[in-house]
Amino acid sequence: MAAHILAMDQGTTSSRAFVFSETAEPLSVAQAEFEQIFPHAGWVEHDPRAIWATSLDTARQAIIEAGLRDDDIAAIGITNQRETTLIWDRKTGEPVYNAIVWQDRRTADLCARLKADGHEAMVTGKTGLVLDPYFSATKIAWMLTHVEGARARAEAGELAFGTVESWLIWNLTGGTSHVMDITNAARTLLFNIDTLAWDEELCALFGVPAALLPEVKDNCARFGETLADHFGRPIPITGSAGDQQAASIGQACFEPGMLKSTYGTGCFALLNTGETRAHSENRLLGTIASRFEGTLHYALEGSIFMAGATIQWLRDGLGLIGSATESEALAKQASDEPGVYLVPAFVGLGAPHWDAGARGALVGLTRDTGKAEIVRAAIEAVCFQTRELMEAMARDRGAPPEVLRVDGGMVVNDWMVQRLADLTGLAVERPRITETTALGAAYLAGLETGLFSSRDQIAEGWAREALFEPKMSVDERETRFAGWMDAVNRTLSAT
Ligand code: ADP
Repeated sequence: MAAHILAMDQGTTSSRAFVFSETAEPLSVAQAEFEQIFPHAGWVEHDPRAIWATSLDTARQAIIEAGLRDDDIAAIGITNQRETTLIWDRKTGEPVYNAIVWQDRRTADLCARLKADGHEAMVTGKTGLVLDPYFSATKIAWMLTHVEGARARAEAGELAFGTVESWLIWNLTGGTSHVMDITNAARTLLFNIDTLAWDEELCALFGVPAALLPEVKDNCARFGETLADHFGRPIPITGSAGDQQAASIGQACFEPGMLKSTYGTGCFALLNTGETRAHSENRLLGTIASRFEGTLHYALEGSIFMAGATIQWLRDGLGLIGSATESEALAKQASDEPGVYLVPAFVGLGAPHWDAGARGALVGLTRDTGKAEIVRAAIEAVCFQTRELMEAMARDRGAPPEVLRVDGGMVVNDWMVQRLADLTGLAVERPRITETTALGAAYLAGLETGLFSSRDQIAEGWAREALFEPKMSVDERETRFAGWMDAVNRTLSAT
């Protein structure tokens, strides 16, 4: 009997695929990087064909590497880089332009104009988001304005808009399903997270014709069946969620107050706020955590743009370290005197500042500052920024989170995770399976097909690999945090 799940994880720099067993154990992984296209400063694009080709190749490879055949795969779950925007022709499947990636800043002026015209309160009220180029709507508007003939074709119903999972499902199903899951829809700036429908007023504001929009589905749903050509027989696609929401499911954060934070290129913390929507007074995003088994959960989200990317910069930009792994030994060697702070505002600061004009700084240098102290300051920056998010969440909810579940490429670094506990004052839990994004997609697909029974079963299956408890004194934690806030204040732009 087919009892395995194929999870496709389409990320910003690579496409990956995993096969999970019926007990949710990862059996194989395949990964392929693809080109990052930077046509101008601040612009980031992907070739939609490369997204599709690497996704299909890695999916096929993961099945082979697990020693399985298409007959063994019961269902497919998909998770994806969020907000990245694609538009294609419904008849030919040809994209009208490259995918505009979430990091792309080309619509900053449009966002500033809409803000100056007083639209942000309405937009935030309906979507929980802020007017920032990060989200999809202004990227759609850009394509419709700059690609010749696109607006007329969109209005005539000839074109389809989608985020990356829509594009993959369209191609997997041979163009029969034009769909989007609810967590991805919630990041477009066009979806009303109270009425759970595309919003006419928002579509009018951004000039997006309704004919472009996909059908929105729950995270566990019948998204379509793959063409037999792709894997040898049709396989149902039954789960889909944006990467951070999928990670939150992989971390079994199903109860209000449960919190996960993923430390990859950037850092994204998602706090489950339960069935009622939380409105942030502290510039966190309000968004949808998940909707399945008839239950909708909302979340508050804090996004930090530079986490592991700061370590990459130490390696590739400065040449201070040969590999990310070296950062741990160096951080341990560094002087423990507080004083050196690195604020990685390379592309501005995300939550809770949302200051696009802020730029990075290294402060507090003395003659005995060496590379170890700089490496340590880079790791500590991620911890201090997490504390800022935790404080914003505590102010919004009236109670601080108790436990933080972590995942992502950085958390193999034990020194970093202990420092995170010390500098936030929170107990930090690292799970046994750290591939939580793919795991979450697999759980969603398996819930729909009955391979997994309920969220309770998933919660029981979550296992901790290590617990890191805060050991630093409160006085020391506060002194260090005050130094950090002082450094941050020096980087903020005047506006
Ligand atoms: P993404 O999914 O965003 O591509 P990953 O979750 O794979 O990212 O994490 C990769 C990031 O983790 C890189 O930015 C890298 O610098 C960082 N990283 C990897 N190993 C370590 C380590 N031992 N210490 C600190 N950072 C690390």
